[in-house]
Amino acid sequence: MTTVYKFGGASIKDAAAIRHLGELLASVRTRPLVVVVSAMGKTTNALEALLAAARSDDEADYRSRLDELRRAHLATVDALFGDRAARVAERVAALFEELDRRHRAHWREPRPFHYDQTICFGELLSTTIVSAWLDEIGTATDWQDARELIVTDACHQAANIDWEATGRKIRALPRDGDRLLLTQGFIGGTPEGVSTTLGREGSDFSAAIFAHCLEAKELVIWKDVPGLFNADPRRFDNAVQLAQISYDEAIELAWHGAKVIHPKTLAPLRQQGIPLTVRSFEALDAPPSTISAEGASAAAPAFILAEEQVLLEVSPRDFSFMDEARQHDILGRLVEAGAHANLVDSGAMRLSLCLDSHPARLEPLVEALAADYALERHDDLTLLTVRHPSEPLLEALGGGREILAERRNRDTAQRLFRSSECPGTWHIPR
Ligand code: ASP
Ligand code: MG
Repeated sequence: MTTVYKFGGASIKDAAAIRHLGELLASVRTRPLVVVVSAMGKTTNALEALLAAARSDDEADYRSRLDELRRAHLATVDALFGDRAARVAERVAALFEELDRRHRAHWREPRPFHYDQTICFGELLSTTIVSAWLDEIGTATDWQDARELIVTDACHQAANIDWEATGRKIRALPRDGDRLLLTQGFIGGTPEGVSTTLGREGSDFSAAIFAHCLEAKELVIWKDVPGLFNADPRRFDNAVQLAQISYDEAIELAWHGAKVIHPKTLAPLRQQGIPLTVRSFEALDAPPSTISAEGASAAAPAFILAEEQVLLEVSPRDFSFMDEARQHDILGRLVEAGAHANLVDSGAMRLSLCLDSHPARLEPLVEALAADYALERHDDLTLLTVRHPSEPLLEALGGGREILAERRNRDTAQRLFRSSECPGTWHIPR
């Protein structure tokens, strides 16, 4: 049975990291092995900035950003291969030429299409370099273009998977004994061969797609943290690692914004009971966290913070009620704007929406709503979500702060505070 590994940008951020990845993979005997890799370090952010430069017709900015990205990738190739770099450097340079050509071909076309034709190069570059390095150290590798395997529709930047066609392609791959199969996360392609992407941070999802289609025995996501925690250890000074967790609980945590795994990752695994292990690629002996059907779905509290939140209080101008028809209209506008509400709460004459402060998505939405509704807006807020809360716990966490909005159901409580009133480091009350 196949094992699937996924490595994120941090695990291949430079030559030293790629060497470490090589040692790790060389020591793993398990086969068949599929390895899904995302773009190096912060490459996808840099490619998005390059896209913005291209679309604003700023030739000088575009040039310097493209040169900088090329320089960084070629520097990694040099550091890895030394005087044997020429062949790999040539392939990397060719990818940059193709990237440049695509920008020039597509920068008058709709942004989502232009985005997918160019942002996919982050993963094409990283896997080209990693594959060459694995060959160099004697780990036989079969490089595959995920755009020919992950078959999607043409919903650019958030492409939907054609599971049937994808399954057929992935299962038809040669799984010849010793070679590990190396491919890209985050990217796919339409049946016509047009590049698509699955949404930011989508490489976890790609790995889950491979695991699902191959009925893998396990998916391992290698990260720079040892596993899953009951709260973000960078924000909570007494967060504790979870050894076992159920699919359902992990899906809730991811949906509510815990940034450990992409929310779409778990459903394809749960369907076949494929366990997902989160391990540290830095501390190989550290105990991992496993998400599986058996995982304790115990009602242990977990905490999620979302910063940079905006609260919109929407009310009808004509003093009519916030009935289903109004709510339908308002939520429909969120869908159109591609926005997601992290908290929705309604009253007789008001609908409260808490959203990420993402200017490109938020401002057009605010404009559209303000045309037809009375709108009150609060910025710089922090949303605290608590899974399996108790009354005393919420009381202690609230710390007497004003609550701007609140929502509660059987197993989850959400409270919205002003960020200026929140601590820099939180502490889970015992
Ligand atoms: N490279 C892509 C991103 O940064 C996909 C991923 O890392 O999962 O969003
Ligand atoms: Mg990435």
